[in-house]
Amino acid sequence: MRARSGVHPLLVASKNADVGFEEGMRLLRAGASALDAVVAVVRQVEDNPKDHTVGYGGLPNLRGEVELDAMVMDGATLKAGAVAALKGFRNPILIARQVMETLPHVLLAGEGAAQFAREMGFEEEELLTEEARAIWKRRLEADAGELPPGVARYYRHMARFARALAKDPEAAAEEYGTDVTGTVVVIAQDQQGRLAVATSTSGWAWKYPGRVGDTPIPGAGGYADNRYGAAACTGRGEMAVRAVTARSVVLYMKMGLPLWNAAREAVLDLYALEDEFASGVTLYAVDAHGNHVGFSNREGRTYIFQTPHMASPEERPCVFVGPDGQWQFGP
Ligand code: ASP
Repeated sequence: MRARSGVHPLLVASKNADVGFEEGMRLLRAGASALDAVVAVVRQVEDNPKDHTVGYGGLPNLRGEVELDAMVMDGATLKAGAVAALKGFRNPILIARQVMETLPHVLLAGEGAAQFAREMGFEEEELLTEEARAIWKRRLEADAGELPPGVARYYRHMARFARALAKDPEAAAEEYGTDVTGTVVVIAQDQQGRLAVATSTSGWAWKYPGRVGDTPIPGAGGYADNRYGAAACTGRGEMAVRAVTARSVVLYMKMGLPLWNAAREAVLDLYALEDEFASGVTLYAVDAHGNHVGFSNREGRTYIFQTPHMASPEERPCVFVGPDGQWQFGP
């Protein structure tokens, strides 16, 4: 494909992707595809045991099982592959890519996804590290009597947890010694101007077994279309699923809005959702020309980006959009 004038390789991501940026940028500088770059970055985050929101070392569901979700989408072909509620494999992003490249399907879930991973030769292992197990257990003990059995109790419990997180995410992270929600999302643009997005998460810690958020849903947690742009989300996945947030950003651009206005419009769509869990969604977006932004319905969020001229990623504040539509740039 002919290189688009003015387009340079670019990586845009959630902050926890920084461990994979060196490899991603090396690939892009060497002329690799955006698809190869996003997968390489996410793979490194999945391998990082210190990140308790993604891959190996991720925090488990209510039963103490690590259940992973991941997706990849290629903006050149609009093909996507994803796995959801997958247990026992540390690199769901590689399996998602195999789904895209070898099956006539987009999304495999649960035991079927695990069977496919085994057949493709991926190694099975225990993903729950001692550290993650201790965090999981500490909260179960602290909240004894509040957790299921009992769906209503689970619901009340999660509502309180989500509200505490929304009110003061730093205090919650301090209490548990780690971020207890999170996702890695990466968008890349390569030398040919092609876009790709990859996402991966262990989802909400202590989630109901089988719960799947936005991360493995093309259009919700991520979307890429070379013609217009790409977007991806972190935060409360249920909201991004209901508002189809990543696709919305790209669609608003297709309908003529500039990147910033498209992202703002998608945040405003989130405010229309009734949601007593009161938590945030942050979106990361790139247009076909390589402009990039982070937008959020929460203050104080940031994202990282890097171009080939930069030695390391730079952190930028996300634009905060309030419920009445006002924008706030920077801290
Ligand atoms: N979006 C992820 C999910 O809902 C979690 C997160 O980013 O905090 O599973």
